[in-house]
Amino acid sequence: MGLDRPLAGLGAGMKVTPHQHGGVPEQAGRAVDPVSVPLSLPGPLPTWTETHCPYCALQCGMRVGLLDQRWEVSGRDFAVNAGNLCRKGWTAAELLDAPDRLRAPLMRRARGEPLASVSWDEALTFVVGKLGALTAAHGPDAIGVFGGGGLTNETAYMLGKFARVVLRSKHIDYNGRFCMASAAAAAQRALGIDRGLPFPISDLASAQAILLVGANPAETMPPLMRYFDEQRARGGCLIVADPRRTLTAQAAAIHLPIALGSDAALANGLLHVAIRDKLVDVDYIANRTVGFEDARQAVAAYWPDRVERLTGIAARRLVEVAHIIAEAPSAMVITGRGPEQQVQGVNNVLGFINLMLALGKIGKPASGWGCLTGQGNGQGGREHGQKADQLPGYRSLRDPAHRATVAARWGVPESELPPAGPSAMEMLRDLGEPGGVRGLLVMGSNLVVSAPDAAALQARLAKLDLLVVSDIFLSDTAALADVVLPVAEWAEHEGTMTNLEGRLLHRRPARRPPSGVRTDLEILKAIADGLGRGAFVSDEPEVVFDELAGVSAGGVADYAGMSYQRLRAGEALYWPCHAPDDPGTPRLFGERFPTADGRARFHAVRCGAAAEEPDDEYPLYLTTGRLLAHYQSGTQTMRVKALRAAEPEPFVEIHPQLAQSHGIAAGDRVRLCTRRGAGSFTARLSPGMRLDTLFVPFHFSGEGRANTLTQAALDPISKIPEFKIAAVRMERVADLPTEVTTPSPGGAPG
Ligand code: SF4
Repeated sequence: MGLDRPLAGLGAGMKVTPHQHGGVPEQAGRAVDPVSVPLSLPGPLPTWTETHCPYCALQCGMRVGLLDQRWEVSGRDFAVNAGNLCRKGWTAAELLDAPDRLRAPLMRRARGEPLASVSWDEALTFVVGKLGALTAAHGPDAIGVFGGGGLTNETAYMLGKFARVVLRSKHIDYNGRFCMASAAAAAQRALGIDRGLPFPISDLASAQAILLVGANPAETMPPLMRYFDEQRARGGCLIVADPRRTLTAQAAAIHLPIALGSDAALANGLLHVAIRDKLVDVDYIANRTVGFEDARQAVAAYWPDRVERLTGIAARRLVEVAHIIAEAPSAMVITGRGPEQQVQGVNNVLGFINLMLALGKIGKPASGWGCLTGQGNGQGGREHGQKADQLPGYRSLRDPAHRATVAARWGVPESELPPAGPSAMEMLRDLGEPGGVRGLLVMGSNLVVSAPDAAALQARLAKLDLLVVSDIFLSDTAALADVVLPVAEWAEHEGTMTNLEGRLLHRRPARRPPSGVRTDLEILKAIADGLGRGAFVSDEPEVVFDELAGVSAGGVADYAGMSYQRLRAGEALYWPCHAPDDPGTPRLFGERFPTADGRARFHAVRCGAAAEEPDDEYPLYLTTGRLLAHYQSGTQTMRVKALRAAEPEPFVEIHPQLAQSHGIAAGDRVRLCTRRGAGSFTARLSPGMRLDTLFVPFHFSGEGRANTLTQAALDPISKIPEFKIAAVRMERVADLPTEVTTPSPGGAPG
């Protein structure tokens, strides 16, 4: 399972041989990637280049090369994917020579004028002049930076330094805030560290029980399914909790069709049963944790019959699942965006961590809690300073000692570092307002499609004095910009990514960027030079990585022992990695937790309400998610012919009975309306849907833009928006008396 097409186009002499257990082979005490080919740079580039996929956090190993004058991708025997790629990965090279790729900067001569090609000199002179003028008139916080979870570690690190040292602004955050923030905050609070999976991905295959909550890897990262296949082949039990009967749920032994917003009730109900039936690990709780009594009291009210009313999951099923997880010698709970993208996202994840702590599973072999990171560098993106409150090495901008350490390594006074800034949505809410951002630099994010309540955001972007977007294509956000800067694609510049296991990966360039295109680092360097602060910025990836590694030394996310040299030698490096002779840390929590006293923390979790519940006017739940064929805002995948053909239009998935009650048949045009706006979608009927819930994929722009409908209510701790729950009304378009479609935001496919 997990392959969209057979392996093809392997480089000469390369053979794909999946590891028997999908594990990372060990050599002389060090884990190595067995087929990495050392790359000598600078110098001629090899015909086939060993690299990684440009898309999701699985970061499958692949080769990129020229075959009959066309750039092609082939699989390679990298430990994570063993030669498998999904259809997004197989087709990734098609974008390198896409006809509408940006190859020169674009600029408006005046507001209201169309974007027109200009030279780099003209574009950068304009940007530098405007940044300087806005800073002089309104102070450094008038400039904001918005990054992306797909940027390399080097760019993410330099973007954070650029904002705080070159611009001296507190306003920087990134679209990872929309993705991983709840799991990150919960893990930090409970376990003392935020690393998506605290064990290598191969451990999935050895777990005797896995509860997967609100994740659909069969569509979002298909090569991951081989671990679940192997797990089940070894007699393991896969349980999937999801409001939809997804492809992943169909592969599971047990599907729990959970009501939207009831994840904490499920977690508490499972812990309630575990305590009631004396399944908890008393010694582990006593020796390795604190706060169990608070958690025990909180779950006392979640008896199975009540949890059945809250979640829709039968009480006897809840008891069965609690016993499966508790009695399995090895068991895991893995969370995805389902429970995390809610106003109770942190609470939800803490509930599942509570469960696994009480069962004594965290830190045991093939056991524990983890989360599936979404974006390609969602993990590394937040470790190196792109997040509003964080400095490199996962240090805190609110901690005087952390500030002093980083300031000293950057060669600036600590007092010059700005304070922690507002989170992504808080920053975006205040665009153009007094004290808010007046000039915004967007790098690697199409937030007009990917942010919640997108129509309102679009209106606020128009209030800016300056919007600069760097992207590969004219995304919906780029189409609104004053200046658009064309950037190199993933196969055109060197860098590192940190995958969902916390493993550092080397992205090698397969070719030079086309004429007229620059790398992210080159753009930051040029702007910093123009602002007279160029000494703080390098545009050489390896130099930046070495600086990043040095600055991170002693931090939670310690990369000090990592280097390009070790990656070129094929080492599998998991952080923390403190020194050049440190093999890294594939598994965390074996002996202690990285907290002050070495113990994990329980939290008292209660299931609260969603920010918006169905009512007479908006009687249904709406949830959103991803498709196999597309990635994020679709800026890239909508331009790949096969992917566009596979999923060409926005749709809404509806239970057949619910559709019938609205007079809707498969293929009908349907209008969905929330308090934020309306959109038009094609009806798809699915008996795997709950009767109270609709599903819309979020990859489309225009009148099928899901985020026109979603809300910007935030989790109070993680500040993640509640993408997963909104109250919605559904109508068949033919039944409507007037024009039904919302205006398209314009621009390219999102
Ligand atoms: Fe692998 Fe994700 Fe790329 Fe698909 S999109 S090939 S699962 S890294």
